[in-house]
Amino acid sequence: MEKSISYVADNIGEVYEEYVVMAEYKTAESEYQICKYCGEKDPNKFKSKAHLLPEFTGNKEWFCYNECDNCNNKFGVYEYNLKNFGAFKNSHLPISGKKKFPKYVDGNNNFVTQFKNENTLIMNTKGNNDFYKIVDDKIKIESITMPFVPLYVYKSFVKFAFSLMEKKDYEQFCSGISWLNNPKSIVEPIIPNTMLYYPNGKPVIKPIAILLKRKKDYNCPEFSFVFIWGFLTFQIFLPFNSKDETLDYSNIQLPILSEFITKTSDGKFGVSHFDMNSLTRIQSLEKISFGFRKK
Ligand SMILES: [Zn+2]
Repeated sequence: MEKSISYVADNIGEVYEEYVVMAEYKTAESEYQICKYCGEKDPNKFKSKAHLLPEFTGNKEWFCYNECDNCNNKFGVYEYNLKNFGAFKNSHLPISGKKKFPKYVDGNNNFVTQFKNENTLIMNTKGNNDFYKIVDDKIKIESITMPFVPLYVYKSFVKFAFSLMEKKDYEQFCSGISWLNNPKSIVEPIIPNTMLYYPNGKPVIKPIAILLKRKKDYNCPEFSFVFIWGFLTFQIFLPFNSKDETLDYSNIQLPILSEFITKTSDGKFGVSHFDMNSLTRIQSLEKISFGFRKK
């Protein structure tokens, strides 16, 4: 079957509604200490309190009580890859994690940045200082991220969306559970593993996670997930939904946030989307610039 997927940037609010917002999430009491991902029921396997979103994203308030210690550790690997991917840009925001403010270490350029308090960012450098430039009252800094596996970053988003999802909906995603549980599992789902990424959003200190559900007849996946961490905004369309098997794959329309539309210097429009279906560890070059405030 011929598959054709296009993006639509002006109708997300017409097609999707906010279905579960993290700030309102509560684990259903009937699900306490029954693992949503592996079925574990032994109360001794629920010793650690599982964060709904990882602590390094600024989440200290939202937990889930239906994720066993073993799954919590397993998914921690995916989250570690997400952290490697996004830590540089977000190290310029006072997001408090497990420790008060995390340290960002760039092993290529030999610099370390860390907030001393909410208003003071300290940068220590050793050796050459080529990685930052001051141009027109702006400081520009570059860093190469720590290695990350694209599919693990993607799996962490799917996991966040599954955590928010009610049981009756989650049951439609059976074929995705073994994919999620097995780090080496790489399959081509009917909805490709595409991540939309906007690195320059209005920053947030506490993460925002919203599960969107289709509210009317439209040829797009039933669920989409939006996640905002620091400066970074992400959107995915949840793969493995058995209900999506009836879509017309010759003409899929994906409603996206307008932030993901890019424009090149020669006026061409594009979409900042990435195919994440790869287990190869990569690094990416990240840049940030900010102005000085004159006193
Ligand atoms: Zn489990």
